Amino acid sequence: MLTFDDSFVRELPGDPLQGPERRQVHGALFSRVSPTPVSAPHLIAVADEVVEALGLDPAWVKTPEFTAVFAGNALLPGMQPYSANYGGHQFGNWAGQLGDGRAITLGELITPSGARHELQLKGAGPTPYSRTADGRAVLRSSIREFLCSEAMHHLGVPTTRALCLVGTGDAVVRDMFYDGRPAAEPGAIVCRVAPSFIRFGNFELPASRGELPVLKLLADYTLRHFFPGLVAEALADDRARYGALFHEVCVRTATTVAHWQRVGFVHGVMNTDNMSILGLTLDYGPYGWVDNFDPGWTPNTTDAQGRRYRFGHQPQVAYWNLTRLAGALLPLVGHEDPLHEGLEAFVRTFEQDDRAFTAAKLGLAKLGADDEPLLTELRAVLVEGEMDMTIFYRRLAELDLAAPSPTVLADCFYDDAKRVAVEPRLNQWLAGYVARAHSEGAPTTDPVARAARMNAVNPLYVCRNYLAVEAIERATAGDYSGVTGLLDVLRRPYMPQPGREAYAARRPEWARNRPGASMLSCSS
Ligand code: AMP
Ligand code: MG
Repeated sequence: MLTFDDSFVRELPGDPLQGPERRQVHGALFSRVSPTPVSAPHLIAVADEVVEALGLDPAWVKTPEFTAVFAGNALLPGMQPYSANYGGHQFGNWAGQLGDGRAITLGELITPSGARHELQLKGAGPTPYSRTADGRAVLRSSIREFLCSEAMHHLGVPTTRALCLVGTGDAVVRDMFYDGRPAAEPGAIVCRVAPSFIRFGNFELPASRGELPVLKLLADYTLRHFFPGLVAEALADDRARYGALFHEVCVRTATTVAHWQRVGFVHGVMNTDNMSILGLTLDYGPYGWVDNFDPGWTPNTTDAQGRRYRFGHQPQVAYWNLTRLAGALLPLVGHEDPLHEGLEAFVRTFEQDDRAFTAAKLGLAKLGADDEPLLTELRAVLVEGEMDMTIFYRRLAELDLAAPSPTVLADCFYDDAKRVAVEPRLNQWLAGYVARAHSEGAPTTDPVARAARMNAVNPLYVCRNYLAVEAIERATAGDYSGVTGLLDVLRRPYMPQPGREAYAARRPEWARNRPGASMLSCSS
């Protein structure tokens, strides 16, 4: 018997109306709505670690009841399904009410140890927030969310999790490339899991409408359930507590984005409605993984023009998003100073974490201001040589500091001409790097210790876009082993897995400009 709580609907103001009829919902943080049943649910994949973390019985996972529940065809006792009401800034513009257009929270599972896990179905049918859309999700985007949330967790990046992926047996029509050629695709539902899916946008919406009592209730709820340390702290008053909440969100967001830069993850659509108040990576849509290092790359076709969400710009966007959250919290905090301090803490934390990660990636004990030229030059070399980011850092760990040679880096390159052209510059960088490493002495220069430290932060296996494409293509043809196989590789991203070298390979040529591999639309 599983124990479910319903604190969000119990403690916060809700919409008096029920059901999925589209509407603007004022003065309320959610609407009660049930998943719409699907015709032929079938379980595609399960994340065993999440099953265990939730304290679920692995035997139950194999039953038709499990599949029915996570397809939205059945509810368990204690589940009080609802969709959350939130707004957001999309591509820099206020977009008004958005809400869970296709996400329905089933309930808050309380584990025997007392941990709270919100279980949410994505693609479970229409809600009051679906606007003109159908509330469903296609198999390809659901596979991408399922795989990447688990991959990020195993990489050590704060993220929402995914329990399972269920096929619905119903077709969903999507115009994948926005070119007026809609096609039917298989539908699917991901059950995602997090302590909470509250976003910056949940605060922005009531703030934008001047609904201060609602805003305050949400902030108090968030503090009470997810920041108990701040509630216990002796602070002058409530205002100070809301300031402390903002500060904590800034710090967490900074750390998460520093991790993104470490592993080469590009979120692709960092709208404020996709920013978690818990600092988790949230909403895996048109995200991508950097193959050849390029700070200017964005995977999102909708973003191709302004490239607002490009790899190298993510820290700045996170900061800007935090300024939107600050604006929403201002009426509660009452004063701008604590909010400015929070933003400063973001900058400090990001710089600190980013510097520590970069030092570790390079096998150095620490980086100082003097090292800036070395880092700037490295980025320029990687771009000019069109070198694979992930492979570069793994191979760098094999560099013999006593006799450095660029041959260890041979398989980083996508283009022979660029490899030849960049070689003198690369050699020069390597010489500077080796000298810098020697300046630290042992243990930095000890080859075994050095490789071990570098390989602990530089993943060997990441959820490369083309790997996901291959898994998706096989799954669309009915063979789900590509999904479970890739998930299994991504479970141990830092450890060489004999026989699975192909998963660590460079992006193949066919995927260079292939839609779905190098370019993704928001259509999902
Ligand atoms: P997402 O890509 O799920 O983050 O969606 C962006 C916004 O559009 C959110 O407000 C979603 O709820 C909404 N949305 C996206 N796709 C659908 C869909 N198929 N049905 C209903 N709402 C959707
Ligand atoms: Mg979203």
